[in-house]
Amino acid sequence: MNYNKKSVKDIDVKGKKVLLRCDFNVPLDKKTKEITSDKRIVAAVPTIKYLLENGAAVIACSHLGKPKGEWKEDLSLAPVVKRLSEYLGQEVIFAKDIIGDDAKAKAAALQPGQIMLLENLRFDKREEKNDPEFAKALADMAEVYVSDAFGTVHRAHASTAGVAAYLPAVSGFLVEKEVGIMGKALADPDRPFVAILGGAKVSDKLNVINNLLEKVDTIIIGGGMAYTFLAAKGYEIGTSLFDAEKVDYCKDMMAKAEAKGVKLLLPIDTVVTKEFPDPINAPIETKTVESSAIPADMMGMDIGEKTAALFADAIKTAKTVVWNGPMGVFENPTLAKGTKLVAEAVAACEGTTIVGGGDSAAAVEQLGFESKITHVSTGGGASLEFLEGIELPGVACLLDR
Ligand code: AMP
Repeated sequence: MNYNKKSVKDIDVKGKKVLLRCDFNVPLDKKTKEITSDKRIVAAVPTIKYLLENGAAVIACSHLGKPKGEWKEDLSLAPVVKRLSEYLGQEVIFAKDIIGDDAKAKAAALQPGQIMLLENLRFDKREEKNDPEFAKALADMAEVYVSDAFGTVHRAHASTAGVAAYLPAVSGFLVEKEVGIMGKALADPDRPFVAILGGAKVSDKLNVINNLLEKVDTIIIGGGMAYTFLAAKGYEIGTSLFDAEKVDYCKDMMAKAEAKGVKLLLPIDTVVTKEFPDPINAPIETKTVESSAIPADMMGMDIGEKTAALFADAIKTAKTVVWNGPMGVFENPTLAKGTKLVAEAVAACEGTTIVGGGDSAAAVEQLGFESKITHVSTGGGASLEFLEGIELPGVACLLDR
């Protein structure tokens, strides 16, 4: 896959109508419907400002939540319009529909330097189906397409990929940064290249492990998924998370690592508990045991300190680090220590450090290490598919440089 894609800076946008796919999928308070974090709106501002300042008329669009093709007032993008206009210091014109008469009329009348927002794309079921007519109707309002919603580039939807069949397509600054940094890590990494994988299930990361083994010097496996690997080594893992169907896969991956000369590090000690905390942040009694000596009636819930030191040692000298997934049940403060120590090691690493979206990104933010990481990805699913080496439809559709 070619990661060298044209961005807004590679084309002339002056006097052009630009269809800009943003990620305004912001979290809303369940009761008040207020925006609880406007990070994604703030993140979209640089590309929007660049386009407006360079004489484009911007037709922004996004999805919000999961309306599943139905018109749901509580998932209207209206709250985003208000917040975005505050950040831009100018009016954001709001269309009452997506490709209907109101959107078309407002798009036709839009002047350079003005911005409008279409209603929630997923109010129309044709968006997620990548319906060509729907994509064409979106494209017909504009002359250029800019993709700046990294969180959805792994989806072939009308607004993320379909429209590129009808318009010259380039990336905005967010997508450019994600694709540039992650693309370099996968295609031409500075070495040693260390990947850290954690999280609950082996099955979620099967292809990621397989693909990364082709590229990395060291692969570190922690979190719930480590126990199936430990079981595959013949260890007693007690009542830890276990995926019986993936034991052979884990054996294959360990053999592949050995054949390729890739170091595969697993937890050497483990924090165990009698049961899963309920609620998840409830106080819990723990003890630390060797990974080869997990009691039959206990479950592994975090990496131990010896493991954290082993992992930190490998991370310290890395020139490229990619991290996806927590090292334990980090939602519980007692079981968050391993994730915290790994986050510290990644933050202290002087190489390029990339943290995949989702839980590991949340952990890094919670701990206040975000500014010490080269890049915290905004897309959980997208960054995982990136690491799997899968072609991302929303990136593949952009013009090559
Ligand atoms: P993922 O979505 O695959 O990144 O998994 C994240 C989830 O994995 C978090 O909710 C963690 O609580 C959970 N997790 C991490 N380690 C363990 C473990 N040892 N046992 C059970 N769940 C775990």
